[in-house]
Amino acid sequence: MTQKPEDHPTGAHGAGAGSRDGSGDRDLWPALRRGWRLRCPNCGSGPLMKGYLSVRESCPVCRQELHHHRADDGPAYLTILVVGHLSAPLLGLVWMTWQPDPMMLFTGFAIFAVALSLYMLPRVKGGLIAFQWARRLHGFAAAPEPDTDRPGPEGPDTE
Ligand SMILES: [Zn+2]
Repeated sequence: MTQKPEDHPTGAHGAGAGSRDGSGDRDLWPALRRGWRLRCPNCGSGPLMKGYLSVRESCPVCRQELHHHRADDGPAYLTILVVGHLSAPLLGLVWMTWQPDPMMLFTGFAIFAVALSLYMLPRVKGGLIAFQWARRLHGFAAAPEPDTDRPGPEGPDTE
């Protein structure tokens, strides 16, 4: 009972203070982990994507509707942000330390940046969708809780 009473649960701007800040009753961090692992944010066992980046209409395990996410350009933006901020100082460090052949430096960093981007992009998208689900943004607000008829062949939150 240490939480401040919040009568108006619409303000979701205090994120980060804890898993529950009055904006909904869905835990943020487990959902983000499930999204990063490309799993349904609700049950954690159903696959989130049906291809590399295509989000499923709904979870095949718990029937959570997923089609009303609004990831849009967010995953690409966040991926570029992280890869760019990793690559730029690393490029300078490698050059200052070893002074490799510029063609080798370029080739190595091109492969590094493309590989890291391809790795991160679907996972960041999964995390962003999980964030929207946990905060009940967009269509996730009106969606009914589907976890009552969860079959659960494996644990709902297998780490
Ligand atoms: Zn699910």
